[in-house]
Amino acid sequence: MIWIKNLTKQYGKVKALDNVSFTIKTGEIFGIVGPNGAGKSTLISIISTVLKPTAGDVVIDEYSIIKNPEHIRRKIGYVPQEIALYSTLSVADNLKFWAGITATGLKKVTSADIRRIAAIVGLEEKLNIKVVQLSGGMKRRLNIAVAMLNDPEIIIMDEPTVGVDIKARREIMRFIKDLANQGKTVIYTSHSSEEIEVLCNRIALLNEGKLLFEGSLEEARKQAEERNISSLFSGRPPRLDDILCYLGNWESD
Ligand code: ADP
Ligand code: MG
Repeated sequence: MIWIKNLTKQYGKVKALDNVSFTIKTGEIFGIVGPNGAGKSTLISIISTVLKPTAGDVVIDEYSIIKNPEHIRRKIGYVPQEIALYSTLSVADNLKFWAGITATGLKKVTSADIRRIAAIVGLEEKLNIKVVQLSGGMKRRLNIAVAMLNDPEIIIMDEPTVGVDIKARREIMRFIKDLANQGKTVIYTSHSSEEIEVLCNRIALLNEGKLLFEGSLEEARKQAEERNISSLFSGRPPRLDDILCYLGNWESD
């Protein structure tokens, strides 16, 4: 269980997060949803201990990101929004390099581990290929593999499907489902309602740093109905897109 407790993050005058609280259950695929600038990356960077909050805390099982960041780091794998890879190194060498950094204090990562992790993301045939020669989707998958090196219980991904083609997107989505089937908790940010509909058990909806909804998609639908969303769409049932924009108080595109 992950408790997000009254998180606030202030950048000068900008409140990137404004007193946000919600919970994420073990083993669920949890979506953090909102338009650009909503605070999604800030929130998951704080959960991942990359960034410190101005106020509040995140507690995972009994560990706090403030008091026990090193325990938290052992439990999580964080996939940043920007691809962080060495383009002139091979797939295997990137994994070895990052293993040296991310797995410090853990057991040594062997060549067999590298092969196993590459296989998880379908790159076992590409171990000796330089990153510069990989497709965009493969680079994304390698970025995910880096976060899997310490066999984390919780995988946190920041917009993993942005800028990838349809095939790679489907692969990543299938991979996220597989992780959840193996009992991992997956937290990811997205602004694609199509993905959310396919993947997520529950979501948190952010806009301008504020939490505007937390719950399942059915609950979102119900809440929108109660607030009379149907009157806006004469004749047709509102799509998930419409519901998220309505509850999240943002313009649809
Ligand atoms: P999202 O990931 O939902 O697009 P972010 O968490 O990246 O949103 O940003 C939330 C808000 O905080 C935005 O207004 C953004 O401009 C601001 N922000 C993010 N990082 C910084 C920073 N390092 N310095 C100043 N402002 C920032
Ligand atoms: Mg972001």
